[in-house]
Amino acid sequence: MQLVFATHNPNKLKEVQILFPKEIELLSLEDIGCMDEILETANDLEGNATLKANFVTENYGYPCFADDTGLLVDALDGAPGVYSARYAGEQKNSDDNMDKLLLQLDNQTNRSAHFKTVIALNLNNEQFLFKGIVQGDITTQKKGAKGFGYDPIFKPNGYDKTFAELPISIKNKISHRAKAIEQLLAFFKNQTHVNK
Ligand code: IMP
Repeated sequence: MQLVFATHNPNKLKEVQILFPKEIELLSLEDIGCMDEILETANDLEGNATLKANFVTENYGYPCFADDTGLLVDALDGAPGVYSARYAGEQKNSDDNMDKLLLQLDNQTNRSAHFKTVIALNLNNEQFLFKGIVQGDITTQKKGAKGFGYDPIFKPNGYDKTFAELPISIKNKISHRAKAIEQLLAFFKNQTHVNK
């Protein structure tokens, strides 16, 4: 079976393909000739993941899954949330985003936050949603050089280091994305079992 992962990032695709059973061949947007940038115009993560998966299924006819991720900070009523990538502007710069967030939380003692990933899957005319969350705190300064995005200022619960200081192998076990993908894989495992 061929399944589209609505991403233009071949590394992301490769990483996820390894986790899938070999009967499922993942295709990127490039693989199906889709060069469009699918605009993320919804006002929540579920909406954006759904919008991307639907774009592919409606225009290209493939079963497809798409993901969207955000960082939700309690003291900021869930901001930056769905706007995490462009929190400090359309340049989508991680350092600018982190600087803005640290400034917003200046003198704030409640630093609780969570990352959330939503995956929308379109399969056999049905849509399924999967979610993964990791809880933690926003630090008061950037630490570490690994990872990407907000990793240098996010310390997951149970660890005294930021995502950017922890080994990638640990982040890949406990992260929001890992948990959402785990659920997606469990779904397919179940499907295969049922179909046998
Ligand atoms: P996307 O939905 O994967 O494009 O993620 C939206 C934004 O959330 C990105 O631009 C990053 O700034 C941030 N983000 C997503 N995943 C992570 C992560 O694992 N660590 C840190 N930041 C992340």
